[in-house]
Amino acid sequence: YPEDLPDAAQVVRAEQAGGPDVLSPAETALPEPAPGQVLVETAAAGVNFIETYQRGGVYPVEHPFVPGTEGAGRVIDVGEGVEGLAVGSRIATSEAATGTYASHFLVEAAKAVPVPDDISDEQAAALPLQGATAHYLINSTYRVSPGETVLTHAGAGGVGQLLTQLLKAKGARVITTTSTREKAEIAQAAGADHVLDYQDFAEQVREITADAGVSVVYDGVGRATFEGSLRSLGVRGTMVLFGGSSGQVPPLDLQELNARGGLYITRPALAWYLRNAEERAWRFSELFKALGDGTLTLSIGATYPLAQAGQAHEDLENRRTTGKLLLKP
Ligand code: NDP
Repeated sequence: YPEDLPDAAQVVRAEQAGGPDVLSPAETALPEPAPGQVLVETAAAGVNFIETYQRGGVYPVEHPFVPGTEGAGRVIDVGEGVEGLAVGSRIATSEAATGTYASHFLVEAAKAVPVPDDISDEQAAALPLQGATAHYLINSTYRVSPGETVLTHAGAGGVGQLLTQLLKAKGARVITTTSTREKAEIAQAAGADHVLDYQDFAEQVREITADAGVSVVYDGVGRATFEGSLRSLGVRGTMVLFGGSSGQVPPLDLQELNARGGLYITRPALAWYLRNAEERAWRFSELFKALGDGTLTLSIGATYPLAQAGQAHEDLENRRTTGKLLLKP
């Protein structure tokens, strides 16, 4: 049934690139769903590191910019030709068409994942982007097998905790890094076998693996860890560089890959691993199943009011957070 729609939406937006303080609250017209789209009333939006790169200008965006591609909520209007979703449907997405740092957002119905009844709004908002990322990293970049030893970084972080849990469920041995004792405890609670500090981590990995090195490194820290990550790899190991929370990695001489044992390297992004309905359904059905049977626990480190999105960015960029950060309108 159609319902009375509000006249306006509340958003957080930036008029130009800059620090966290460029994000400020604003009121805009309620977006209208184009054919194939649905309008969602945001229950919670996910904060992700990419939005700090976009806000700061590392990844150029158009302004005014409303950040966020991840959110969960209730469908309140549907565009022409939408099938399978109706007003009232609960959905989650990592692929919104308009910014999710907002009271309402648009998403293509095909990119909106129906949320099972036993999953809360907070879980639904916390899962899609980091969950699908952890899933594609360990299943579709380098496919991890039971018994393999894997290195990840920032093991108390959003992606980090999910990666560890899913890797343990596969029977892998997980080595990870964190910057504080408190974060080390969180990484350990997520299931990591070895939690190292960043100092000399490559030497520590060599020791743990009896000099063999690991078969794959999932490195989302980037600039600060990249060189050590390469040194942690065994012969024919795979470097999956998926982010740069410490800064972007400078250009690499490909001859290095030969000199260090015939290494493989990839620099993926989630969009290349959510290519179609089948891929999306596969990843989310496995993620919801893992949540349902307790294989996966979502750790929500902090929830901020929408208007304090800048504070969330500041905390994330200054390493003050663990787990997932959410915004609530
Ligand atoms: P996290 O929760 O992991 O937060 C970032 C963490 O990085 C910090 O908490 C910190 O942990 C660590 N870190 C190390 N050095 C620095 C530094 N100099 N400044 C800030 N943080 C630092 O964030 P997310 O889980 O949201 O994202 C993790 C990474 O994954 C990011 O690089 C992100 O861009 C990437 N990503 C990539 C995707 C893809 O498909 N390619 C998709 C999703 C995320 P500690 O203090 O323990 O070192």
